Amino acid sequence: LDPTLLSDLQATLRDVPDFPKPGIVFKDITPMLADPRLFGRVVNAMSAPFRGQHITKVVGVESRGFLLGAPIALALEAGFVPARKPGKLPHKCIVERYSLEYGADGVEMHEDAILKDERVLVVDDVLATGGTADATGRLVSRLGGQIVGYSFLITLDFLEGAKRLGPDKVTSVLRF
Ligand code: AMP
Repeated sequence: LDPTLLSDLQATLRDVPDFPKPGIVFKDITPMLADPRLFGRVVNAMSAPFRGQHITKVVGVESRGFLLGAPIALALEAGFVPARKPGKLPHKCIVERYSLEYGADGVEMHEDAILKDERVLVVDDVLATGGTADATGRLVSRLGGQIVGYSFLITLDFLEGAKRLGPDKVTSVLRF
């Protein structure tokens, strides 16, 4: 479909060693976001597996999941829902806790963000351990939504996050 996407991404994404902590190789997507053609191709590639799947809400995980999730929502003609770090959303929230590749945290969503039986796609830039995406999926389930899938730009395969989420639900443009 887009035969040069993988090589163009590999040439554009930036690896930042030891950020934000020693031993973490941070996948920096900002050079991709700064390239409008490549950004558009990424949005297209991350949406494509879910076209025709009647997605009604795309949940983007703070904060790089917002940048990818919002244009993917528009591409799929779905609504966009932010999942945020605790204390950031103004209305009544539900919360789930999780542990992360670098630390522990929680994720919140407005209690009225997803309606019962809505078909939901969760979007983020990087799948590492899957803790963040799994907690986000639990929020969606608690509100009665149906997780159709998870779309990532990058999967770090060695951390086995896809196992945690259900491999059949996970799509990723790039894997390392
Ligand atoms: P996890 O919950 O372990 O799957 O971690 C995923 C979350 O942490 C996502 O929101 C990512 O943006 C971020 N993250 C984890 N590892 C990396 C990494 N190596 N490079 C960039 N972001 C990362």
